[in-house]
Amino acid sequence: MASSYAKHSATFALGLLLAGGAALAQPPAPPAAVDIAILAARQLTLPVQGVAREALTDTFSNARSAGRRHDAIDILAPAGTPVLAVDDGRIAKLFLSKPGGITLYQFDPSGRYSYYYAHLERYADGLREGQMVRRGQVIGYVGDTGNARGGAPHLHFAIARLPPERSWWKGEAINPYPVLRGLEGAAHTADNGPSAASPPLSRRPPGAPDLP
Ligand SMILES: [Zn+2]
Repeated sequence: MASSYAKHSATFALGLLLAGGAALAQPPAPPAAVDIAILAARQLTLPVQGVAREALTDTFSNARSAGRRHDAIDILAPAGTPVLAVDDGRIAKLFLSKPGGITLYQFDPSGRYSYYYAHLERYADGLREGQMVRRGQVIGYVGDTGNARGGAPHLHFAIARLPPERSWWKGEAINPYPVLRGLEGAAHTADNGPSAASPPLSRRPPGAPDLP
């Protein structure tokens, strides 16, 4: 009896070890790549009306003043061009900031991600915090407020993975460029679940312009 029990225990312990070993042998995908795949699968609406996906450029990693990284992309468009909600969700904050000018934070339907729109000329009429917006809804207009003043009007667009407490001003920056371009494979592999082969997320697509 006793030896049978010991044998069972040993087998059980070995099983645990093997299970643990198997889990350790498969490192999780880098979080940002997972986020990009999740968001690319949503095929978000482009945030500036009339701009083609092919016209976007990846300036996410560009340097900014004081050693900061851009952590966003800029989408050039004439002042007054409608800015569209990329996804369904709630307006989390309408915020006037020195660098960003007239800005807007939108949370996605799950409250897991935030979308940030900056340098707006103005908000859409009647827009208010807490309001639910639909994908493609006009939420503002392209401008040059904040530190874009004097330069070409553009939308500064950023995506962040929100922290657990969901503070609108915090989060881990996710590159909007591969998300909005829907880089090859990303939308399809997500349909097959997260275990599908990883798409080449950070590769610059052929024909994309070289960055300065
Ligand atoms: Zn910018």
